Amino acid sequence: SKATLFDQNSKVNITFADVAGLDEAKEEVIEVVDFLKNPKKYTALGGKIPKGVLLVGPPGTGKTLLAKAVAGEAGVPFFTMSGSDFVEMFVGVGASRVRDLFKQAREKAPCIIFIDEIDAIGRARGKGNMQGGNDERENTLNQLLVEMDGFSTDKGVILMAATNRPDVLDSALLRPGRFDRQIGIDNPDLKGREAIFKVHLKTIKIDPNTVDAFTLAEMTPGFAGADIANICNEAALIAARRNQDSVTLDDFNYALDKVIGGLEKKNKLIH
Ligand code: ATP
Repeated sequence: SKATLFDQNSKVNITFADVAGLDEAKEEVIEVVDFLKNPKKYTALGGKIPKGVLLVGPPGTGKTLLAKAVAGEAGVPFFTMSGSDFVEMFVGVGASRVRDLFKQAREKAPCIIFIDEIDAIGRARGKGNMQGGNDERENTLNQLLVEMDGFSTDKGVILMAATNRPDVLDSALLRPGRFDRQIGIDNPDLKGREAIFKVHLKTIKIDPNTVDAFTLAEMTPGFAGADIANICNEAALIAARRNQDSVTLDDFNYALDKVIGGLEKKNKLIH
């Protein structure tokens, strides 16, 4: 049924407390929370609330998490779809899915629409990519532009999107009145990783005598938030397999070997 086309969460229980680090990005999106909660405060003075916020950064750095947290903080529904879902569809379906997505969102406003991997739809037109299917993608992109122009944010729909390839996006998407706000999200530094470990260590039963967030952060240069979440989970599984009653530093060392091995394999496949 239509209701299940998009992953729609009317009760988002993620808040900014779940998003570690990313202090500057959080400061910028706090404004979006306020737009959603108090639109009249802005429109009363004649200001136009931005329609689209683009989160730019490498995979696994918490872009989806941050967008969800905006919905959670504002207490509004969260509609999400991945750009690649639109494009892999049969001819003619992409554009109508975009229409449906916006229609459902308007009915539930105020709300957030989040499009992950927007570059899959939003590549510059006429610059063919891979094996055909371009007309379909262009139709989908055109529909997205039409929908963005057709809604006014007074109605309380704010579009958020994520990409790690802002360079390939069609410039039409970045024009004023569309995705005119960009927020950069980088891989975390040492302090950021420590903060992310703190969030994820809370959900597992650690041995406090051997495990602490700072040490783990020092052991994981170059890791993204998603890698850190993964390490914590692997370490907990290893400890359980060993019939321990808490997760020790040794379990983390094993988990690290396993995850780093996985990352190396993935890189080899890419090169
Ligand atoms: P992609 O672009 O690959 O979709 P993303 O940037 O949207 O990645 P998320 O899907 O938000 O990344 O992150 C995946 C998971 O990694 C999150 O659900 C969370 O568990 C963890 N994570 C990532 N970044 C953070 C962070 N800053 N704080 C806490 N957890 C994080």
